[in-house]
Amino acid sequence: MPTLAVVDDNFDNRTLIQRMLQRLYQVTVYASGAEALEGLRGALPDLVLLDISMPDMDGTEVLRRIRADERLKRLPVIALTAHAMTGDREKYLAMGFNDYVTKPIVDRKILYDAITRHLPRPDAPGAPPAPPGPAARPAAP
Ligand SMILES: [Mg+2]
Repeated sequence: MPTLAVVDDNFDNRTLIQRMLQRLYQVTVYASGAEALEGLRGALPDLVLLDISMPDMDGTEVLRRIRADERLKRLPVIALTAHAMTGDREKYLAMGFNDYVTKPIVDRKILYDAITRHLPRPDAPGAPPAPPGPAARPAAP
């Protein structure tokens, strides 16, 4: 199962995102940038979802440190931002984020689509998400 790190200072946001994704990914949550950097160095995930607005160390500073770290710098990192404005997407991509999702996250699919743009799908490379219920895939020839 692919591993994700979720970094957000807000408990409700962390919990919501974890619940949205835990069926398909092994999710580790971090409540601050400092906690995340320490945790990421200990256990490298496949992708990071990183809140921008956090006290002490905001998401742009966390990203800067990730990109400056030889072991972490290739990690796909998706920015999570509230108060989205025109041009934000370009701004965050220029900073070195791989993608950008606005909060509140009301549609799980938007988050899932952003993740799968940067990670192989958890079930099969190139395959759509498995439908709920019994698998209905054609038999291999
Ligand atoms: Mg925040």
